[in-house]
Amino acid sequence: MEKLLAGDELSCLNCGACCAHFRVSFYWAEADINQIPDHYVQALTPSLACMRGTHQTMPRCSALEGEVGQAVKCKIYHHRPSPCHEVQAGDEKCMRARARYGLTTSHDYTGQKNTPSEMAY
Ligand code: SF4
Ligand code: SF4
Repeated sequence: MEKLLAGDELSCLNCGACCAHFRVSFYWAEADINQIPDHYVQALTPSLACMRGTHQTMPRCSALEGEVGQAVKCKIYHHRPSPCHEVQAGDEKCMRARARYGLTTSHDYTGQKNTPSEMAY
């Protein structure tokens, strides 16, 4: 999707690509600290956990609602783990994830405020 909104703004609410591209892993205690419901979390190692659905060949976070590139929402937005705060709309990871879904952009959005999961991720 050249999923850009009118006005040439990059909107995570119309994207969600990064929630369906990367493994979203974090120190296991974050799940408790952030109060992420158990069914969204998968244990990986004694010290690592990830968002369920992201540790697979075609990742898709189980907390992602909607269709990538159309309209998405994070079901646990206020509880999402640290990796979800790190991807910034327009940064290198964002662009890589978007490219996977054909959502490239010709504009440099670096520095735009992150909203993935007001979305999505
Ligand atoms: S940060 Fe994630 S949801 Fe937002 S535009 Fe980039 S890939 Fe899409
Ligand atoms: S922002 Fe929400 S939907 Fe996206 S990876 Fe994080 S927890 Fe999953």
